[in-house]
Amino acid sequence: MSEITTITLGISNLFLVRDKGLLLVDTGTDATREKYVELFSKLKINPRDIDLIVISHGHSDHFAHVHELKELTDAPVLCHKNAVDALKTGKNPKVIPRNELGERVLEMILKNEPILCQTVEPDIIVESMFDLNQYGVAGKIIYTPGHSDCSITVLLDSGEAIVGDMVVSSPLTGNACAAYFANDEKALFNNIRMLLEHAHTFYSGHGGPFSRKQILKLV
Ligand SMILES: [Zn+2]
Repeated sequence: MSEITTITLGISNLFLVRDKGLLLVDTGTDATREKYVELFSKLKINPRDIDLIVISHGHSDHFAHVHELKELTDAPVLCHKNAVDALKTGKNPKVIPRNELGERVLEMILKNEPILCQTVEPDIIVESMFDLNQYGVAGKIIYTPGHSDCSITVLLDSGEAIVGDMVVSSPLTGNACAAYFANDEKALFNNIRMLLEHAHTFYSGHGGPFSRKQILKLV
């Protein structure tokens, strides 16, 4: 049975998935190698025991410190094929607001300093589905575009899903909302509906986790 630990670093969450194997999903922001060392030691984890680093999508607040984590853990880095450029160049692809909240958040982001990213060469590039059992975790990775064209979801057999920014906590109300940035709104909602058939808990990159009941209100 897998166990998910959520750690908020800076403006985003990273996740540890403990099963027979150990996965790390995303990197958080505002972190340093020392901060990760301290974090893993608090959690009684030897970073070298981490089997795989999964990047939910190619936005810098999710992969900013993948370089430091790869060095520290010596684990392979996995991302979707459409996220490869972002990881290799450290550059954020353009985000597209799909509503007023998105416009407002984009305005705030543009006012702030950009998140600096060290680049990394991904080791495992996925397109549609990837079985995590080979890394000792009962579950799979599925392609769930909508928020971005490179968004993937870690779907565990236990019915928990780590969904990146597919659903997030609204910066205005704190409630669950569907991604306010989307390059394909139809795909975003189709994938939320699809996941509702398989997942009872949605772990988000920002805030959360959210229950199926909370997510059902969004579609
Ligand atoms: Zn994002």
